[in-house]
Amino acid sequence: MSDKMAGSPALMDKIIRLARNRGFIFPGSEIYGGLQNSWDYGPLGVELKKNIKDLWWRTFVWGRPDIVGLDANIIMGTRVWEASGHLAGFNDVLVECKKCHARFRTDELIPGFAGKKASSRGLDGIACQACGTKGQFTAPTPFNTMFKTNLGPAESKDSVVYLRPETAQAMFTDFTEIMRVSRRRLPFGIAQMGKAFRNEITTGNFIFRLREFEQMEIEYFIEPPKTRKDWEKYFNHWLKEIRKWLKLVGVDSRRIKEVEVPAGERAHYSERTVDIEFQYPFGQKELYGLAYRTDYDLRAHEKHSGENLKYRDPKTGKEFTPHVIEPSLGVERTILAVLLSAYTEEQVKTAKGTAEVRVVLKLPMAIAPYKAAILPLADKPELVKVGESIRQSLGALMATDFDITQSIGKRYRRQDEIGTPYCITVDFDSLKDKKVTVRDRDSMKQIRIKIEEVADYLKERLT
Ligand code: ATP
Repeated sequence: MSDKMAGSPALMDKIIRLARNRGFIFPGSEIYGGLQNSWDYGPLGVELKKNIKDLWWRTFVWGRPDIVGLDANIIMGTRVWEASGHLAGFNDVLVECKKCHARFRTDELIPGFAGKKASSRGLDGIACQACGTKGQFTAPTPFNTMFKTNLGPAESKDSVVYLRPETAQAMFTDFTEIMRVSRRRLPFGIAQMGKAFRNEITTGNFIFRLREFEQMEIEYFIEPPKTRKDWEKYFNHWLKEIRKWLKLVGVDSRRIKEVEVPAGERAHYSERTVDIEFQYPFGQKELYGLAYRTDYDLRAHEKHSGENLKYRDPKTGKEFTPHVIEPSLGVERTILAVLLSAYTEEQVKTAKGTAEVRVVLKLPMAIAPYKAAILPLADKPELVKVGESIRQSLGALMATDFDITQSIGKRYRRQDEIGTPYCITVDFDSLKDKKVTVRDRDSMKQIRIKIEEVADYLKERLT
């Protein structure tokens, strides 16, 4: 994408339109008028999302000897959230405009203006973002953003449970069990990805702020540090890992800013937080977070559960509570940053010599929904048969598209727009020379290779 477009709201509209028209992402519950800020992932969206999650898993779980995975229950008991501090402290501060009753988070009206100390006096002179009335807000009230529900048929105080607002907590509550079965030594990490739920006061900006979203989180346990350097070394390691990940997944690094979060604005458990921010068309905002959670969580769960959550050093026999570095990545914000980074418009000449705009999603092959499109030049049984045999040679190894409609030029454009790295065209010569044309999405260069080599050609480029 050209730099000129980076901050343009027009780009956001184009992404939303493309996502909808091509079956990536569309509004949920739409036949009933929609449900506020809920989004469903269509055939291409589900592939993109799954590929991003798989890439994260391969990179950080399969790719490292010091990290193992977990898939815990989304509903967790009230005592978990009492211990973690989320029941008391997982609040947004809410104000309501007295004139039009629109509701806002105080930090939406004034950046950094949040927390328990917020008073309506600080909002004097601030205009309501809905009706423009100045300084007419109710007193700020904390609003717990966890989704509450009941377990079982009877609603009572004892049946109250919460949907997790972050994937992190189970990695602390299950810590000793995972240590026991995985037999790892510190430093050592647990990775989990999955849904998290937050009853956000205001949602919006497409898939940026959702009430139901997915996280990919790692809790990386280290020995209790003696000096600041002892934990900073791991913190810096994870900052580097996040930078490498951004590159791997195709986020434009020129639009990334690492922002040190000041003490007053950090989460209750954090000693240091760096927000990895991205320049979205609607402003520079958080993409990921990296936090040093100290030993806050393990200690809190040990205290509340009465269970020993300490680590026993196999060499010295000493017991201690590990400290934690946490890289926390949102799946949907990754998708948005990836789409915004990948979207490209190029001026090209058609076969007839007229100028036209070519829209290309320059997605890395590892996350592209389809790795290749198989395109018989014409809807003729002998060409379709060859195309089918190529598809069969790929088996269930990768997602591919098979398209016999429209002109070949139109089919190429369609695949460019959804980010398919390779188009495999079967033409009449293929019947004689047993070769096909492979077209590269980004360079548009075409080469001819043997049909029997297609599968290997694509496999080699998969990662
Ligand atoms: P924000 O300041 O934008 O509300 P946060 O600081 O509350 O975000 P964290 O608690 O650090 O976010 O969550 C870790 C990651 O989870 C975020 O960096 C983001 O990628 C993702 N995330 C958090 N809240 C949402 C949400 N409401 N919708 C989509 N993704 C989210």
